Amino acid sequence: YFAKEGRTGVEVYVAERDRNSPERLNLLGDLRRAIGGSDLRLHYQPKLNLSSGMVEGAEALLRWWHPERGPVSPADFIPLAEQSYLMHQITAHVIDAALEQAAEWWHSGLEVPISINVSARDLLDSALPDMLEAGLHRLGLPPRAIQLEVTERILMTDQAYTSDSVHALVQLGIPLSLDDFGTGYSSLVRLQRLQVSEVKIDASFVQQLGKSVDDERIVRSIVDLVRSLGLRSVAEGVETEEVARILRDMGCDAAQGWRFAEPMPADDMTDWLRARVGAAPSFDRYDPAEF
Ligand code: C2E
Ligand code: MG
Ligand code: MG
Ligand code: MG
Repeated sequence: YFAKEGRTGVEVYVAERDRNSPERLNLLGDLRRAIGGSDLRLHYQPKLNLSSGMVEGAEALLRWWHPERGPVSPADFIPLAEQSYLMHQITAHVIDAALEQAAEWWHSGLEVPISINVSARDLLDSALPDMLEAGLHRLGLPPRAIQLEVTERILMTDQAYTSDSVHALVQLGIPLSLDDFGTGYSSLVRLQRLQVSEVKIDASFVQQLGKSVDDERIVRSIVDLVRSLGLRSVAEGVETEEVARILRDMGCDAAQGWRFAEPMPADDMTDWLRARVGAAPSFDRYDPAEF
Protein backbone atom coordinates (compact mmCIF):
# COMPACT_ATOMS: atom_id res chain seq x y z
CA TYR A 1 0.00 0.00 0.00
CA PHE A 2 2.68 2.45 1.04
CA ALA A 3 6.30 2.27 0.05
CA LYS A 4 8.39 3.92 2.70
CA GLU A 5 11.99 4.85 2.91
CA GLY A 6 12.06 5.77 6.59
CA ARG A 7 15.42 7.40 6.86
CA THR A 8 15.05 9.87 4.08
CA GLY A 9 11.44 10.55 4.92
CA VAL A 10 10.50 9.86 1.35
CA GLU A 11 7.04 8.42 1.35
CA VAL A 12 5.70 7.19 -1.90
CA TYR A 13 1.99 6.76 -1.80
CA VAL A 14 1.50 4.29 -4.58
CA ALA A 15 -2.26 4.47 -4.81
CA GLU A 16 -1.99 8.23 -5.26
CA ARG A 17 -1.43 7.63 -8.93
CA ASP A 18 -4.97 6.45 -8.84
CA ARG A 19 -6.65 8.93 -6.57
CA ASN A 20 -10.00 7.41 -7.25
CA SER A 21 -9.11 3.79 -6.56
CA PRO A 22 -12.08 2.08 -4.88
CA GLU A 23 -9.81 0.89 -2.06
CA ARG A 24 -8.71 4.43 -1.28
CA LEU A 25 -12.17 5.92 -1.52
CA ASN A 26 -13.64 3.20 0.68
CA LEU A 27 -11.09 3.76 3.40
CA LEU A 28 -11.50 7.55 3.21
CA GLY A 29 -15.28 7.15 3.42
CA ASP A 30 -14.93 4.90 6.46
CA LEU A 31 -12.53 7.38 8.03
CA ARG A 32 -14.88 10.28 7.43
CA ARG A 33 -17.69 8.38 9.14
CA ALA A 34 -15.41 7.49 12.05
CA ILE A 35 -14.60 11.12 12.93
CA GLY A 36 -16.34 12.08 16.14
CA GLY A 37 -17.25 8.47 16.94
CA SER A 38 -15.67 6.05 19.38
CA ASP A 39 -13.72 4.07 16.72
CA LEU A 40 -11.36 7.02 16.38
CA ARG A 41 -9.80 8.05 19.66
CA LEU A 42 -6.61 9.35 21.19
CA HIS A 43 -4.08 7.34 23.10
CA TYR A 44 -1.36 9.00 25.15
CA GLN A 45 2.34 8.28 25.61
CA PRO A 46 4.36 9.96 28.36
CA LYS A 47 7.52 11.92 27.67
CA LEU A 48 10.10 11.67 30.45
CA ASN A 49 13.03 13.85 31.43
CA LEU A 50 16.07 11.60 31.09
CA SER A 51 18.04 13.00 34.01
CA SER A 52 15.26 13.57 36.55
CA GLY A 53 12.79 10.91 35.41
CA MET A 54 9.99 13.45 35.73
CA VAL A 55 7.06 13.38 33.34
CA GLU A 56 7.33 16.34 31.00
CA GLY A 57 4.27 15.74 28.92
CA ALA A 58 2.16 13.28 26.99
CA GLU A 59 1.81 12.87 23.24
CA ALA A 60 -1.65 12.34 21.79
CA LEU A 61 -1.59 9.57 19.17
CA LEU A 62 -4.63 8.78 17.12
CA ARG A 63 -6.04 5.22 17.04
CA TRP A 64 -8.59 3.94 14.55
CA TRP A 65 -10.52 0.76 15.12
CA HIS A 66 -12.04 -0.13 11.75
CA PRO A 67 -15.28 -2.13 12.06
CA GLU A 68 -14.08 -4.79 9.60
CA ARG A 69 -10.31 -4.41 9.38
CA GLY A 70 -9.63 -3.94 13.07
CA PRO A 71 -6.87 -1.50 14.03
CA VAL A 72 -5.53 0.67 11.20
CA SER A 73 -2.21 2.39 11.90
CA PRO A 74 -2.03 6.20 11.76
CA ALA A 75 1.14 5.67 9.73
CA ASP A 76 -1.25 4.38 7.06
CA PHE A 77 -4.39 6.50 7.39
CA ILE A 78 -2.81 9.89 8.21
CA PRO A 79 -0.88 10.12 4.90
CA LEU A 80 -4.08 9.09 3.14
CA ALA A 81 -6.10 11.74 4.96
CA GLU A 82 -3.41 14.35 4.24
CA GLN A 83 -4.18 14.00 0.58
CA SER A 84 -7.80 14.88 1.10
CA TYR A 85 -9.97 17.47 2.81
CA LEU A 86 -10.34 15.00 5.69
CA MET A 87 -7.05 15.91 7.36
CA HIS A 88 -8.39 19.29 8.33
CA GLN A 89 -11.42 17.69 10.02
CA ILE A 90 -9.24 15.13 11.77
CA THR A 91 -6.91 17.82 13.10
CA ALA A 92 -9.86 19.83 14.39
CA HIS A 93 -11.26 16.74 16.10
CA VAL A 94 -7.87 15.79 17.59
CA ILE A 95 -7.40 19.32 18.93
CA ASP A 96 -10.86 19.29 20.53
CA ALA A 97 -10.29 15.92 22.16
CA ALA A 98 -6.76 16.75 23.33
CA LEU A 99 -7.89 20.08 24.81
CA GLU A 100 -10.71 18.34 26.70
CA GLN A 101 -8.19 15.85 28.07
CA ALA A 102 -5.76 18.60 29.00
CA ALA A 103 -8.54 20.38 30.89
CA GLU A 104 -9.46 17.21 32.76
CA TRP A 105 -5.86 16.64 33.83
CA TRP A 106 -4.97 20.26 34.44
CA HIS A 107 -8.00 21.00 36.63
CA SER A 108 -7.36 17.90 38.73
CA GLY A 109 -3.76 18.89 39.48
CA LEU A 110 -2.03 16.87 36.74
CA GLU A 111 -0.26 19.66 34.89
CA VAL A 112 0.90 17.50 32.01
CA PRO A 113 1.21 19.32 28.68
CA ILE A 114 -0.30 17.39 25.78
CA SER A 115 1.59 17.27 22.50
CA ILE A 116 -0.67 17.33 19.46
CA ASN A 117 0.55 16.14 16.07
CA VAL A 118 -0.52 18.45 13.25
CA SER A 119 0.09 18.16 9.55
CA ALA A 120 2.19 20.90 7.98
CA ARG A 121 -0.74 22.28 6.06
CA ASP A 122 -2.87 22.59 9.19
CA LEU A 123 -0.03 24.27 11.08
CA LEU A 124 0.16 26.94 8.38
CA ASP A 125 -3.61 27.43 8.42
CA SER A 126 -4.26 31.03 9.50
CA ALA A 127 -7.36 29.93 11.45
CA LEU A 128 -5.37 27.63 13.76
CA PRO A 129 -4.06 30.16 16.33
CA ASP A 130 -7.51 31.69 16.93
CA MET A 131 -9.07 28.27 17.20
CA LEU A 132 -6.48 27.16 19.79
CA GLU A 133 -6.66 30.41 21.71
CA ALA A 134 -10.44 30.17 21.91
CA GLY A 135 -10.28 26.53 23.00
CA LEU A 136 -7.69 27.20 25.69
CA HIS A 137 -9.64 30.19 26.94
CA ARG A 138 -12.95 28.29 27.03
CA LEU A 139 -11.37 25.52 29.10
CA GLY A 140 -9.34 27.82 31.36
CA LEU A 141 -6.02 26.42 30.19
CA PRO A 142 -2.67 28.22 29.85
CA PRO A 143 -0.95 28.02 26.43
CA ARG A 144 1.72 25.72 27.86
CA ALA A 145 -0.95 23.08 28.47
CA ILE A 146 -0.42 22.06 24.86
CA GLN A 147 2.38 21.74 22.38
CA LEU A 148 2.21 21.21 18.61
CA GLU A 149 4.33 18.63 16.80
CA VAL A 150 5.04 18.96 13.12
CA THR A 151 7.37 16.78 11.08
CA GLU A 152 10.76 17.99 9.97
CA ARG A 153 9.48 18.06 6.40
CA ILE A 154 7.99 21.48 7.20
CA LEU A 155 11.52 22.91 7.15
CA MET A 156 11.54 22.26 3.43
CA THR A 157 8.52 24.46 2.78
CA ASP A 158 9.66 28.07 2.59
CA GLN A 159 6.24 29.22 3.76
CA ALA A 160 6.97 27.96 7.26
CA TYR A 161 9.41 30.79 7.98
CA THR A 162 7.09 33.60 7.01
CA SER A 163 3.87 32.01 8.17
CA ASP A 164 1.59 34.32 10.16
CA SER A 165 0.16 31.26 11.82
CA VAL A 166 3.54 30.10 13.15
CA HIS A 167 4.31 33.61 14.43
CA ALA A 168 0.90 33.86 16.07
CA LEU A 169 1.33 30.49 17.78
CA VAL A 170 4.71 31.52 19.13
CA GLN A 171 3.23 34.83 20.27
CA LEU A 172 0.48 32.96 22.06
CA GLY A 173 3.11 30.93 23.91
CA ILE A 174 2.25 27.55 22.42
CA PRO A 175 5.52 25.61 22.04
CA LEU A 176 6.35 23.99 18.71
CA SER A 177 8.12 20.68 18.43
CA LEU A 178 9.92 19.38 15.34
CA ASP A 179 9.05 15.70 14.88
CA ASP A 180 10.99 12.89 13.15
CA PHE A 181 14.18 14.95 13.03
CA GLY A 182 16.98 13.48 10.94
CA THR A 183 14.74 12.02 8.26
CA GLY A 184 14.70 15.16 6.13
CA TYR A 185 17.46 17.24 4.67
CA SER A 186 17.14 20.39 6.69
CA SER A 187 20.17 22.49 7.42
CA LEU A 188 21.16 24.13 10.67
CA VAL A 189 20.27 27.50 9.23
CA ARG A 190 16.74 26.37 8.47
CA LEU A 191 16.30 24.86 11.91
CA GLN A 192 17.38 28.14 13.49
CA ARG A 193 14.94 30.13 11.41
CA LEU A 194 11.90 28.19 12.54
CA GLN A 195 10.82 29.07 16.04
CA VAL A 196 10.66 25.61 17.58
CA SER A 197 11.45 24.84 21.20
CA GLU A 198 12.04 21.11 20.91
CA VAL A 199 13.47 18.65 18.41
CA LYS A 200 12.41 15.00 18.41
CA ILE A 201 15.07 12.65 17.11
CA ASP A 202 13.52 10.04 14.84
CA ALA A 203 13.28 6.52 16.25
CA SER A 204 15.18 5.07 13.28
CA PHE A 205 18.39 6.68 14.61
CA VAL A 206 17.67 5.88 18.23
CA GLN A 207 16.89 2.20 18.09
CA GLN A 208 20.32 0.92 17.07
CA LEU A 209 22.23 2.94 19.66
CA GLY A 210 24.81 0.68 21.28
CA LYS A 211 24.94 -1.45 18.13
CA SER A 212 25.60 1.09 15.40
CA VAL A 213 28.57 3.44 15.68
CA ASP A 214 27.19 5.51 12.82
CA ASP A 215 23.88 6.06 14.57
CA GLU A 216 25.72 6.97 17.74
CA ARG A 217 27.61 9.68 15.85
CA ILE A 218 24.46 10.96 14.20
CA VAL A 219 22.45 11.14 17.42
CA ARG A 220 25.32 12.72 19.32
CA SER A 221 25.70 15.43 16.71
CA ILE A 222 21.94 16.10 16.67
CA VAL A 223 21.88 16.37 20.47
CA ASP A 224 24.86 18.77 20.41
CA LEU A 225 23.40 20.81 17.56
CA VAL A 226 20.03 21.09 19.27
CA ARG A 227 21.64 22.17 22.54
CA SER A 228 23.85 24.73 20.81
CA LEU A 229 20.70 26.30 19.38
CA GLY A 230 19.23 26.53 22.88
CA LEU A 231 16.54 23.95 22.13
CA ARG A 232 15.58 20.72 23.85
CA SER A 233 16.19 17.26 22.41
CA VAL A 234 13.73 14.39 22.78
CA ALA A 235 14.48 10.84 21.63
CA GLU A 236 11.65 8.82 20.10
CA GLY A 237 11.25 5.04 20.19
CA VAL A 238 13.41 4.24 23.22
CA GLU A 239 12.83 0.53 23.80
CA THR A 240 15.68 -0.56 26.06
CA GLU A 241 17.49 0.56 29.18
CA GLU A 242 20.79 0.51 27.28
CA VAL A 243 19.52 3.02 24.73
CA ALA A 244 18.07 5.21 27.50
CA ARG A 245 21.44 5.20 29.28
CA ILE A 246 23.39 6.09 26.13
CA LEU A 247 21.02 8.97 25.42
CA ARG A 248 21.27 10.22 29.00
CA ASP A 249 25.08 10.11 28.79
CA MET A 250 24.95 12.08 25.54
CA GLY A 251 22.96 14.81 27.26
CA CYS A 252 19.69 14.16 25.49
CA ASP A 253 16.99 15.94 27.49
CA ALA A 254 13.96 13.70 27.28
CA ALA A 255 12.64 10.47 25.78
CA GLN A 256 9.56 8.51 24.85
CA GLY A 257 9.31 4.82 24.17
CA TRP A 258 8.19 1.39 25.27
CA ARG A 259 11.06 1.35 27.77
CA PHE A 260 8.98 3.75 29.83
CA ALA A 261 5.42 3.31 28.61
CA GLU A 262 3.50 2.43 25.48
CA PRO A 263 0.78 4.74 24.19
CA MET A 264 -2.36 3.98 26.23
CA PRO A 265 -6.02 4.96 26.45
CA ALA A 266 -6.75 8.19 28.31
CA ASP A 267 -8.05 6.48 31.47
CA ASP A 268 -4.98 4.24 31.72
CA MET A 269 -2.77 7.26 31.19
CA THR A 270 -4.56 9.09 34.00
CA ASP A 271 -3.95 6.11 36.33
CA TRP A 272 -0.32 5.89 35.20
CA LEU A 273 0.20 9.58 35.90
CA ARG A 274 -1.54 9.41 39.27
CA ALA A 275 0.55 6.43 40.34
CA ARG A 276 3.72 8.34 39.58
CA VAL A 277 2.63 11.66 40.90
CA GLY A 278 1.01 10.45 44.11
CA ALA A 279 -0.98 13.06 45.94
CA ALA A 280 1.57 15.81 45.52
CA PRO A 281 1.24 18.30 42.68
CA SER A 282 4.92 17.92 41.78
CA PHE A 283 6.13 14.81 39.99
CA ASP A 284 8.16 12.10 41.62
CA ARG A 285 11.90 12.17 41.35
CA TYR A 286 13.91 9.95 39.12
CA ASP A 287 14.84 6.68 40.75
CA PRO A 288 17.81 5.08 38.97
CA ALA A 289 16.86 1.68 40.39
CA GLU A 290 13.61 1.86 38.52
CA PHE A 291 15.31 2.22 35.15
P1 C2E B 1 5.09 10.26 15.60
O1 C2E B 1 4.39 11.51 15.93
O2 C2E B 1 6.55 10.35 15.29
O3 C2E B 1 4.79 9.27 16.80
C1 C2E B 1 5.71 8.31 17.28
C2 C2E B 1 5.31 6.91 16.90
O4 C2E B 1 6.19 5.97 17.54
C3 C2E B 1 3.92 6.49 17.34
O5 C2E B 1 3.41 5.63 16.32
C4 C2E B 1 4.19 5.67 18.61
O6 C2E B 1 3.14 4.75 18.91
C5 C2E B 1 5.45 4.98 18.21
N1 C2E B 1 6.26 4.54 19.36
C6 C2E B 1 6.31 5.05 20.61
N2 C2E B 1 7.24 4.42 21.35
C7 C2E B 1 7.80 3.48 20.56
C8 C2E B 1 8.84 2.50 20.76
O7 C2E B 1 9.47 2.39 21.82
N3 C2E B 1 9.14 1.72 19.69
C9 C2E B 1 8.49 1.83 18.49
N4 C2E B 1 8.86 1.01 17.52
N5 C2E B 1 7.53 2.76 18.27
C10 C2E B 1 7.18 3.55 19.29
P2 C2E B 1 1.90 5.70 15.86
O8 C2E B 1 1.04 5.95 17.06
O9 C2E B 1 1.63 4.50 15.03
O10 C2E B 1 1.85 7.00 14.96
C11 C2E B 1 2.56 7.07 13.76
C12 C2E B 1 2.57 8.47 13.21
O11 C2E B 1 1.24 8.86 12.81
C13 C2E B 1 3.00 9.52 14.22
O12 C2E B 1 4.41 9.55 14.31
C14 C2E B 1 2.42 10.78 13.59
O13 C2E B 1 3.25 11.26 12.57
C15 C2E B 1 1.14 10.25 12.97
N6 C2E B 1 0.01 10.57 13.88
C16 C2E B 1 -0.47 9.88 14.94
N7 C2E B 1 -1.52 10.53 15.50
C17 C2E B 1 -1.70 11.66 14.78
C18 C2E B 1 -2.62 12.77 14.85
O14 C2E B 1 -3.49 12.87 15.74
N8 C2E B 1 -2.49 13.75 13.90
C19 C2E B 1 -1.52 13.71 12.94
N9 C2E B 1 -1.45 14.72 12.05
N10 C2E B 1 -0.63 12.70 12.85
C20 C2E B 1 -0.72 11.69 13.75
MG1 MG C 1 4.77 13.08 17.12
MG1 MG D 1 8.20 11.13 15.36
MG1 MG E 1 6.68 9.62 12.81
